[in-house]
Amino acid sequence: MKVIIGTDIQQAKAFLEQGNVVGIPTETVYGLAGNALDIEAVTKIFEVKNRPTFDPLIVHTNSIERLAEFVQFMPEKALLLAQKFMPGPLTMLLPKHPSIPDLVTSGLDTVAVRIPNHPLTLELLAILDFPLAAPSANPFGYISPTSTQHVAKQLGEKIPYILDGGECQIGLESTIVGFENDEVIVYRKGGLAIEEIEKIVGKVQVNEHSSSNPKAPGMLKSHYSPKKDLLIFKGEKFGNNTDKIGYLAFQKHHSEITKENQLILSESGDYKEAAKNLFAYMRQLDNMDIDKIYVELLPEKDLGRAINDRLKRAAVKL
Ligand code: AMP
Ligand code: MG
Repeated sequence: MKVIIGTDIQQAKAFLEQGNVVGIPTETVYGLAGNALDIEAVTKIFEVKNRPTFDPLIVHTNSIERLAEFVQFMPEKALLLAQKFMPGPLTMLLPKHPSIPDLVTSGLDTVAVRIPNHPLTLELLAILDFPLAAPSANPFGYISPTSTQHVAKQLGEKIPYILDGGECQIGLESTIVGFENDEVIVYRKGGLAIEEIEKIVGKVQVNEHSSSNPKAPGMLKSHYSPKKDLLIFKGEKFGNNTDKIGYLAFQKHHSEITKENQLILSESGDYKEAAKNLFAYMRQLDNMDIDKIYVELLPEKDLGRAINDRLKRAAVKL
């Protein structure tokens, strides 16, 4: 199958109505979307991605009213966050309505819901009479895609259509929050900074989970990995032999490493720019003629926290 890349939402709609899966743009990363209410379509998503079915999917729709149909209820803080940040890079875990198949939520009694902030995908969602289940459009465990080229390269043989919405503007997966009693709990750091959430609902808890706590949002300990070994830079001295070393820096080049082997996330130290570049640069380094990639962690604030989370998960565990 040769994938079609285009901007025709009617064509995307037709494929989705037939139970096919389609690549869709969002502000975070590209999604691999299927009818969330159709078990065969959802099964296809897991197959195409090679994703284990214990890793639940996010349900996407285009308004808070429609979103409310897929959940049992919304706590007050959820409503406050929805009104402020939806559409946007925020996913909420809420008690699941029976209309959502168990396969979508891996049998959990909560469903992850989100309204993506991308004009083309919002238009598509508005003409569909079902929500879309969509994980990131990459093979399970690899770096998330932020352009149609990334999707086509890895999944182009397996899907019929990619809706082309250009480069993802945020470039990091959504921030995932849940609610317990009156508390907001962050399960995955992502494209909405925790500081922004705290402005609306006060102090939140951050759940640092690992593969030993799989209830947590897809956050297996090792994820987002390039094929090359990726290592966190801890002040190592490299000496002369740096031809085969790649380096991903926040603001400045590393003086010992060949300049062509280095990528800078944001020279001005802008976290948003760094987030937007992160996955594309990881892919670029993965395709260079080098043996391993060193990455620099960012300051633990703003989107630096989510970026560091992805880098640590991508790193080889020594
Ligand atoms: P992805 O779409 O690939 O970014 O993955 C979305 C993540 O959300 C997955 O890794 C899931 O584990 C997580 N997720 C989705 N639904 C739930 C849920 N009901 N409870 C906890 N985590 C969830
Ligand atoms: Mg993913």
